[in-house]
Amino acid sequence: MATRITEDCTSCGACEDECPTNAISLGEDIFVINPDTCTECVGFHDSQQCALACPVDCCLPDSTRVESEDTLFARAKTVDGTMPAAEELSAETSHFRAGEAAE
Ligand code: SF4
Ligand code: SF4
Repeated sequence: MATRITEDCTSCGACEDECPTNAISLGEDIFVINPDTCTECVGFHDSQQCALACPVDCCLPDSTRVESEDTLFARAKTVDGTMPAAEELSAETSHFRAGEAAE
């Protein structure tokens, strides 16, 4: 699922520069995430970087947009044409694989 920003956003802007797909921008009142470019950071990081950066914990999974790792990775490839093959996704580049490194 894409990540969404709730109404608790204080528009501090801390998340914007952390997004590897430039999916975050200032909306009318608060910052917003474009669900068509958010990959939940799949392909780039082990967790959602906006959520890590947010001081008020208002970057949350959007339960109305549940998406698979395949879907999110395909989206990542449209953003970054140099992405490796899906088989190379790891615990460092997909939160779906969290825990793999410890196994
Ligand atoms: S989850 Fe990742 S890709 Fe999605 S908006 Fe946040 S930082 Fe950007
Ligand atoms: S870091 Fe959090 S509070 Fe700051 S702009 Fe992003 S979503 Fe809003």
